[in-house]
Amino acid sequence: MSVIDENRRLEDLDREFIWHPFTQMKEWLEEKPIIISEGRDCFIKDIYGQWYLDGVSSLWVNIFGHRKKEIDDAIKEQLDKISHSTLLGLSNVPAIKLAEKLVEIIQKSLPSSSSYNKVEDAELNFGNPPNPPLEKGGKGGFDKKGLCKVFYSDNGSTAVEVSLKMAFQYWKHKGINEKNVFVSLKNAYHGDTIGAVSVGGVDIFHEAFGPLLFKTYKAPSPYCYRCDLGKEYPDCKTVCLDKLEEIFREHSEEIAGFIIEPLIQAAGGMITSPPGYLAGARELCSKYGILMIADEVATGFGRTGKMFACEYENVIPDIMCLSKGITGGYMPLAATIATDEIYNAFLGEFKDLQTFFHGHSYTGNPLACAAALACLDIFEKEKVLEGLKIKIEILKEWLNENLNLRNVGDVRNAGLMAGVELVRDKNTKEPYDREEKTGWRVAYQARNKGVFIRPLGNVIVIMPPLSISEQNLRQLLTVIKDSIIEITERS
Ligand code: PMP
Repeated sequence: MSVIDENRRLEDLDREFIWHPFTQMKEWLEEKPIIISEGRDCFIKDIYGQWYLDGVSSLWVNIFGHRKKEIDDAIKEQLDKISHSTLLGLSNVPAIKLAEKLVEIIQKSLPSSSSYNKVEDAELNFGNPPNPPLEKGGKGGFDKKGLCKVFYSDNGSTAVEVSLKMAFQYWKHKGINEKNVFVSLKNAYHGDTIGAVSVGGVDIFHEAFGPLLFKTYKAPSPYCYRCDLGKEYPDCKTVCLDKLEEIFREHSEEIAGFIIEPLIQAAGGMITSPPGYLAGARELCSKYGILMIADEVATGFGRTGKMFACEYENVIPDIMCLSKGITGGYMPLAATIATDEIYNAFLGEFKDLQTFFHGHSYTGNPLACAAALACLDIFEKEKVLEGLKIKIEILKEWLNENLNLRNVGDVRNAGLMAGVELVRDKNTKEPYDREEKTGWRVAYQARNKGVFIRPLGNVIVIMPPLSISEQNLRQLLTVIKDSIIEITERS
């Protein structure tokens, strides 16, 4: 069979057999699918030999580019030993080494001695001074020795699912049976399993499943461009935190935990929270005896310019969820990290049934853990976080310049995670109708110019691998700018 025939066959087979995620398959069937066959550095190649700059890091997971030698080698080396064995009743070497490394990195990044009185000037697009820290104290504080117990699973949704079940069960073991409800934010996205959807707040993804979901309280999203409370930052004095406190105050007896994407609500539209919001939320959780779950699935591993987003506001959550970049975008792996206090509450006699009843077949997969170990090594050896500063500056400068475009309403970033919100009318902030698919049309335009991006509604997402060169970053941004202008101003 000729190469052309083989390629056509692959296209037909894709249409016949694959059901793509988050994709209207009727439309997909009418399009020519892009089928990826190879990758190198920040580029991916399709079966016809066309290369694309991977502008969203293969769905936010890839941090060192494709075919990174050290990660390739680590996986190959592990392959020669064993690919998989279970963590249920057994342990394995890479899983142990990785757990130690993760705890070391977390404790180095989030020292438990940290206080909340220093809110760093984050690599955010918010030049304003942070809020003063809230009063400390109150009842319900935890004996926090830092995050030190690693529970593995295999994707972001399961990391979140685990955190919710852990928090829920923790209170039962403490003899507090009323704490059965979670608080989350509007515009939150924590994954697609039913528990994760229950704490989600993006109507377009989550509404359809309403009858299946468990009860949650939803606090306003700290979305300054479209404030639910009709306020303007910074005059508002972060009143959204007051609303969160109202929920906590009224319902703390039944609230098990509060889950938050620190600094930036990613899939909700790259919504950056104002300085002080995260630290304020932490204070409120401590004050009202509520476990804080930081979902760092998207923000972890350097995305925001620091190893973890929580570092910016010196926040130590009670539970932290990690996935995506953990293996450099190579293998499915996730970790839910809990404090000693939570872990200890599960210790007991066999007959007491205080076991954490959760575990997946691929929990702690050795190949994935080996990839993750190599990835964490690269962070140290290549001083990755230091190298990010200049790239984040380039991105921020570009974003600020592009705020002047006719249909760009807002630009936001946390490190190398950025969103450009397109609007029909800048003065009124009128959005484009969903049916117009403006974000998608920009993405298709960019694709024709050799750049792969995937929007979130009217928000153009920019999230290249951390390893992108300055030159490739500038190239990516130029294509995105041209595509925005061509779609919003010329068509
Ligand atoms: N939490 C956050 C913050 C995410 O951004 C995502 C995925 N975009 C998830 C959880 C779910 O991760 P996964 O797709 O691996 O299940």
